[in-house]
Amino acid sequence: MDSGTDAMAKTLLEIQGLDTEIKSIQREIEDLPRKYQLDELASERIDAREMRSANETRLEEMTHKQHKLDGELDLLSSKVKKEEEKLFSGTIMNPKELSAIQAEIISLRKKCDEMETEDLQEMEEIEALRKDVAVSKARVADVEEKERKALSSRDSVLSDRKGDIAALEMRRDSLKRNLEESVRENYEKLLRDKGGLAVVPIVQSRTCGGCHIDFSRSQIDQFQHNEGIFYCEFCRRILVKSSES
Ligand SMILES: [Zn+2]
Repeated sequence: MDSGTDAMAKTLLEIQGLDTEIKSIQREIEDLPRKYQLDELASERIDAREMRSANETRLEEMTHKQHKLDGELDLLSSKVKKEEEKLFSGTIMNPKELSAIQAEIISLRKKCDEMETEDLQEMEEIEALRKDVAVSKARVADVEEKERKALSSRDSVLSDRKGDIAALEMRRDSLKRNLEESVRENYEKLLRDKGGLAVVPIVQSRTCGGCHIDFSRSQIDQFQHNEGIFYCEFCRRILVKSSES
C-alpha cells in the first residue's frame, strides 16, 4: 500500500470538504437579501415615502386654497359692511339707488354664505388630510425601522459568515501546502471547471460520485488493486476510495 498517495487522497478529500463548506456559506450569503426581505422592504419604503409626500402636497395645496378663500371672504365681508354703512348713512335718498344697494347687499351676503360653506368643507378636508399625513408618516417610520432592523441582522450574519469563510480558507490553504504543485493545480482547475466538485468518492466500488457513470471493468480492477487517488475516466474528477469502496 502506498501510504503517501493514501495520505494525499485523504488531504484532497478534506480540502474538497472545506471548499464545499465555503461554497455553501457563500450561497447562504447570496441568499441573505432574500432571507431578510431587503428588496420587499426597500420597495415598501419607497411606496410609503411617495404616499407621505403625496399626502403632504395635497395638504399644502388645500391649506393654500383655504387661505386664499379666507382672504376673499374677508374682502367680501368688508364690502358688505361698506355697503351697509352706505345704506344707513342717510346720505343716499334716491329710492332707486337705495334699493340697488339693498340688492347688492343681499347678493353679497349670499355669496358670503356660499363661501363660508365652502370654507367649512375645506377645513374638514384639511382635517382629514392632516390625519392622512400623520398615518403615512407613521407608516414611513415603521417601514424604515423594519428595514433598519433587517439590515442590521443581515450585517451581523454577514460578518459572522465572512469570519467562518476566512477560518475555513485558512485551514484549506494550510492543507493545500501539503500537496504537490501539479496536484494542487489540477484540483483547482477541476474545482473551477466542475461546479465546485473536484474530488468525489467511488460509489459502491463502481460508480463515479461526480458524474454518476459506472466505471469500466478495467478501472474497477485498478481500484481494487491499488490505493490512493484515481481519475474518473469520464469526467476526469479525482476519485477517492471511501472505506467501503
Ligand atoms: Zn466521473
